[in-house]
Amino acid sequence: MISVQGLSRRYGSVTALDGVDFEVPAGQILGFMGPNGAGKTTTLRILAGLLAPTTGTAQVAGYTVGAPGDRSREHLGYLPETAPSYDELTVTGYLRFVARVRGIKQVSPREAVGAAIERCGLSDMRARPIGTLSKGYRQRVGLAQAILHDPKVLILDEPTSGLDPAQRVAMRAVIRQVGSDRTVIFSSHVMQEVEAVADRVLILNKGRIVADDTPARLTAQDGLQVRLIGVQLPIAAARIAELDAVDGVEVRGELLWIDAPTGTAPQIAKLIVEAGWGLVALEPGQSSLEATFIRLTREG
Ligand code: ATP
Repeated sequence: MISVQGLSRRYGSVTALDGVDFEVPAGQILGFMGPNGAGKTTTLRILAGLLAPTTGTAQVAGYTVGAPGDRSREHLGYLPETAPSYDELTVTGYLRFVARVRGIKQVSPREAVGAAIERCGLSDMRARPIGTLSKGYRQRVGLAQAILHDPKVLILDEPTSGLDPAQRVAMRAVIRQVGSDRTVIFSSHVMQEVEAVADRVLILNKGRIVADDTPARLTAQDGLQVRLIGVQLPIAAARIAELDAVDGVEVRGELLWIDAPTGTAPQIAKLIVEAGWGLVALEPGQSSLEATFIRLTREG
């Protein structure tokens, strides 16, 4: 449903995107992650037809974006990072206005607005002026305008940014609901969110894709990590590595990382206590998503 080949974008001397390729099959919900300035918004704006790439092509719903005969916009809904606000209009008034401007043909504007209001959980707010809504409900209005024409593809740029924790959880449920029968790309900085909503995660750093995997694999916790005092870490590492259940031990900064199942934690704790070392923490190792993010942030 979405296909991106060799996409690059420069802004003067800044290379925001540097040869990005990926495909998103129909029905998939893709989480797009990366540190600030990684190129997420640039990619999403190119897909939405709002920005031309310097090189490469993007296809949405079978059309090459920006090419002659491109009708991708009819099949695409877009929620920008900062959605425009029409504070004086009511939710229904604004959505009817958008429906008329967009010239929806399949159903009447009234029906399209009613369906979007329902799907985005806005029924109780329909008569309220947008200016009086909380940020969470305003984001839902933004999402409702993006799905008004029932697009096959939804592109959401940080749909939960600036929301409080309860609003975030509610918004995730709305994204899952509206994504149940379409292809969605959404960007986010929040791992739990991507884990809760996405079928797949792409991580971008400095304009390149550095990870492409399922949330389950990216968030799987790996091994155990131990924080000790009163012993030199290489000495402790060598002793712990002698245990049968342990496949390997590495010194990682201030920590020891142990390649062993979580169930071996009591055995390792016993060895540490009997050796007389100070055990400060023994916990599951970082997920590879956390590790990838920390590495990116350090390098960034
Ligand atoms: P964030 O998480 O902060 O929204 P992002 O991953 O969406 O970041 P982009 O907004 O795509 O990143 O920006 C990628 C790079 O391009 C950054 O270095 C940014 O400063 C630069 N950039 C983006 N828009 C412009 C512009 N209009 N002119 C110049 N540089 C720009």
